[in-house]
Amino acid sequence: EERPREILSDVEGREDTRLGVEAMDLLDAYGIETPQGDIVDAPEDALTVAEDVEGDVVMKIVSPDILHKSDIGGVKVGVPNEEVFDAYEDLVTRARNYQPDANIIGVQVQEMVDLDSGVETIVGMNKDPQFGPLLMFGLGGIFVEVLEDTTFRVAPVAESEAREMTEEIDSAPLLRGARGRDPVDVDGVTETIQRLSQLVTDFPAILELDINPLVATPDGVKAVDVRLTVD
Ligand code: ADP
Ligand code: MG
Repeated sequence: EERPREILSDVEGREDTRLGVEAMDLLDAYGIETPQGDIVDAPEDALTVAEDVEGDVVMKIVSPDILHKSDIGGVKVGVPNEEVFDAYEDLVTRARNYQPDANIIGVQVQEMVDLDSGVETIVGMNKDPQFGPLLMFGLGGIFVEVLEDTTFRVAPVAESEAREMTEEIDSAPLLRGARGRDPVDVDGVTETIQRLSQLVTDFPAILELDINPLVATPDGVKAVDVRLTVD
């Protein structure tokens, strides 16, 4: 309860009340698993984090002014340790080129999650003027706009409702192992929907929140990206 309150009250007083991956700790606090890694503000610290992570890493610009990071080339996937230093500088340069006065907090260095065996989903919440907090679940990643395969429930949701959400999208067979693929951790997805439901119920100041993607693999789920807006 302490850490989430701190993160949210920190942003409430600001003119811009949006948060990007700085909000990752909120998810951690609610037991939603996130990739190993950290946010750093110097290239040598980025290397230290990368050396702690097994294999290549993902690096992302962290700035409340850049919430759609890929749009400006602000996400680098599969960075080997020897390229971490240059990648850091490059990400900051790209951000500066995009918006010279952008508030750049630093760079997030993250463990790679296995997208090949996984499915990118989205779990979100939007405050509806009529219904209140509307939870959303659907197919995520690059397909989310194209397919618009989503389903909604009013928060808070019971376990049965969260599970229904995973069952009723058109792409549900994808989660349950279509075309000889292993089924992903649907229990983990269901649990994540419930945990997000709890988070937005505990903190009504959150106006909208998106975990996109929540990568679901046969071994579990990981919230790879988050953004939110508070009142
Ligand atoms: P944004 O949505 O702001 O562009 P994301 O953090 O969602 O930034 O990254 C964009 C895409 O990069 C994701 O949808 C995913 O396909 C890929 N990606 C991001 N983080 C990871 C990761 N840790 N492991 C594997 N792929 C990732
Ligand atoms: Mg994203």
